[in-house]
Amino acid sequence: MSATVVQLKRQHPYQDDYDRADLVAALTDEYSQATPQDILRAVLAEKVAGGVALVSSFGAESSVLLHLAAQVKPDAPIIFLETGKHFAETLSHKRKLITELGLTNVQEIKPDQAALGQNDPQGDLWRRDADACCAIRKVRPLKGALSGYDGWITGRKQFQSSARLRLPFFEDSGTHIKINPLARLSQQDITAYMEQHNLPQHPLVEQGFASIGCWPCTHPVTADEDARAGRWRGQAKTECGIHL
Ligand code: SF4
Repeated sequence: MSATVVQLKRQHPYQDDYDRADLVAALTDEYSQATPQDILRAVLAEKVAGGVALVSSFGAESSVLLHLAAQVKPDAPIIFLETGKHFAETLSHKRKLITELGLTNVQEIKPDQAALGQNDPQGDLWRRDADACCAIRKVRPLKGALSGYDGWITGRKQFQSSARLRLPFFEDSGTHIKINPLARLSQQDITAYMEQHNLPQHPLVEQGFASIGCWPCTHPVTADEDARAGRWRGQAKTECGIHL
């Protein structure tokens, strides 16, 4: 029964007369023992989740997912949220990865300028209200960018934080299918993959940054902390809002 739903989707990827929750359950069942490569082939080449985009921050470990995706479909749409608050090192790392991996469809999505002018004219909203800043610079732009897609691929992993310990391969966000091909990889797997494929490291990793977002809200971590402990350090906030 489950396989039938996935099979139908494979044959008619852009037909949307299906229940998203049923499809997520079927995909979860069919790909329960899959590798990241299997999942990316299924969603990018066979389109078992319909039209999907990959969302990347070009952060500390982004090269792994981008490299895997490039093996299947180098022209897959890749969304980069250009918040205007990225480290210069992230932007140079992004340019390097685009060139080295041969990515041909990276799209920079920017916040609405009118909303920024009205709510963050000095560019310091992150100091006063980080949730509002993330809403303007990340959540709303991503919502618009994903409006034409059925699903999106993330680079999240279970080991990154206690909140992600049960992260599945497929999720129903209520509007999209979220696909997490790397969910079960360990930090060791990520490091080994990068070494095996000679992938460039984000320049800030050697300074202790394990998870890298906007510069005002990203700090280095110590060896005994979660990878994401440096994000919004000192605040209760742990996610920007695009994964809530
Ligand atoms: S991570 Fe910080 S600077 Fe970036 S959008 Fe969120 S609050 Fe603003």
